Amino acid sequence: MKIVEYERTLRWVGNMKCPSCDGLTPAWRSSGMSDCFPHFYCNRCSNVIHRESDQSLVWNAKSQALLDQISETLPYCICGGRFAPNCGPKCMHCHVEVPIVADPIAHLHNPSMIVIDGACVFSDKGEPYQVRIKT
Ligand SMILES: [Zn+2]
Ligand SMILES: [Zn+2]
Repeated sequence: MKIVEYERTLRWVGNMKCPSCDGLTPAWRSSGMSDCFPHFYCNRCSNVIHRESDQSLVWNAKSQALLDQISETLPYCICGGRFAPNCGPKCMHCHVEVPIVADPIAHLHNPSMIVIDGACVFSDKGEPYQVRIKT
């Protein structure tokens, strides 16, 4: 799989703090001005999917019906888990899910996609890629 490396000094690279163990997980986060919505995390690992076909559905609206419609078509992840609307990335230390999706409907328009070190990004356009944060 293609690998995209980000320097730790970049503005959009930081640490995701775990609410359970307080451990820090290096992560890239897309800009609030980006079009990385909607995006969904795997229920087992920290991989994330962002599809333009979903974006066209929610560009002007968000609702439970749209969320349900998208959820039904979310694929399985390469880890055996499945992308789901209420999942978040997992702590690299204790593997507890970091709950960043408080409201799955509001999350449909959240452009801040968090990709932790080692996680993969999938889409309906182009090849998937793995994010690595340079140490
Ligand atoms: Zn943790
Ligand atoms: Zn997964």
